[in-house]
Amino acid sequence: MTFKDLGIAEPLLRAVEEEGYRIPTPIQQQAIPILLRGKDLLGVAQTGTGKTAAFGIPILHHLYKARNGQQGKRRLKALIVTPTRELAIQIGESFTAYGKFTGIRNTVIFGGVKQGRQTQALQRGVDVLVATPGRLLDLMNQGYISLHDIQYAVLDEADQMLDMGFIHDIKKIIAKLPPKRQSLFFSATMPKDIVELSRRILGDFERVTVKPEQATAEKVEQGVFFISKRNKPKLLAHLLKEKPSDSVLVFSRTKHGANKIVKKLAQANIQSAAIHGNKSQTARQKALSDFKDGRLKVLVATDIAARGIDVEELSLVINYDLPNVPETYVHRIGRTGRANASGIALSFCDIEERPYLRDIEKLIKQEVPRMPEHPFVEEGIEETETERRPQPPRNNDRSRNRNRNRNRSGNSNYKGGNTKNWNRSSRNNSRSRS
Ligand code: AMP
Repeated sequence: MTFKDLGIAEPLLRAVEEEGYRIPTPIQQQAIPILLRGKDLLGVAQTGTGKTAAFGIPILHHLYKARNGQQGKRRLKALIVTPTRELAIQIGESFTAYGKFTGIRNTVIFGGVKQGRQTQALQRGVDVLVATPGRLLDLMNQGYISLHDIQYAVLDEADQMLDMGFIHDIKKIIAKLPPKRQSLFFSATMPKDIVELSRRILGDFERVTVKPEQATAEKVEQGVFFISKRNKPKLLAHLLKEKPSDSVLVFSRTKHGANKIVKKLAQANIQSAAIHGNKSQTARQKALSDFKDGRLKVLVATDIAARGIDVEELSLVINYDLPNVPETYVHRIGRTGRANASGIALSFCDIEERPYLRDIEKLIKQEVPRMPEHPFVEEGIEETETERRPQPPRNNDRSRNRNRNRNRSGNSNYKGGNTKNWNRSSRNNSRSRS
């Protein structure tokens, strides 16, 4: 299937082609026809699946088709609410890129900065608004924004918004939307409170699910090192020196931990920067743009901050800490298997994190290949793989996956390259579009 087959307007086809997209991703193939028909949509999908284009293209298509005969100041017709500044900026950039031949105008608003430039842009008139919940409500209350004419409303990364405590803001925003509208709701996970929230916004909807297993099992090569907590900095520095990569994203569970990693790497003469909620907006933007432009090769991020990082061909993801929520692991490693690219994700697992690893393997229905050889094994603290879980029944798919991973890990050590694409990054310099 091509973008042309989807029946989207010509200016959008041209823009997508300029972006270098050849084939619609699975979520685009499924969601675009539903949205072009005007139906509401519940999308269960993580970042990195191409979901911004999946909702952005149909919205732009509708707005473009309806633009004739418009007179006077532009009215706000589409609203996208997303949890973080980084995501908001990126969604805005995507709307600008996909809509560049349509004449549809967007702007982005988020907190943590002065509002003057944002309100000026709003007063000039825009068709599409991308916003974080707090600033949106604030500017609504000040009378800068009316949702009266909204025809398309998108709640993006709903689970993350709830995690960040935005539930009341979201409910207030939903209450102000006009009843006649097309609604889209995206979440990577669907726990009970998210289902409840989705009911508040969606009318007659269709559901599209892009399974996390596709992202992990099929696209990303994974490996796990068993390592003590105190040796993690040494192993990280060692890996980064052994195999320098163009763009490495290191995940830390906490903000404090992220700062510590940066410090330890500096002691090993490796330059890196941390992004997380405690950093100023300017510091975050600078670290991100240095990373995207290739001036900075190692970025250390917490999960929430990392959601806004859109770097194509991320060479390597390192889980310095394993997340205690298994879906987060899928999110993280999805960062290196974006769209049609494949990637590498390595994890550090200390003894306390073993249960997290088991939960992750249960979720992704495969064993993360063990990377047994590293120079920092402490007697009695790290064993290489000793635990064996009961084997799940051998149905075809599962045993195929397991066998493939066994083969990968069979001769695995990080020098020899368990991960066959390990060196890909140094050859391939393609980076984000911005
Ligand atoms: P998203 O999930 O929207 O954050 O998109 C993930 C990445 O995939 C972004 O860098 C997009 O530019 C890229 N992308 C989206 N759709 C396609 C496509 N059909 N082909 C290639 N890359 C794409």
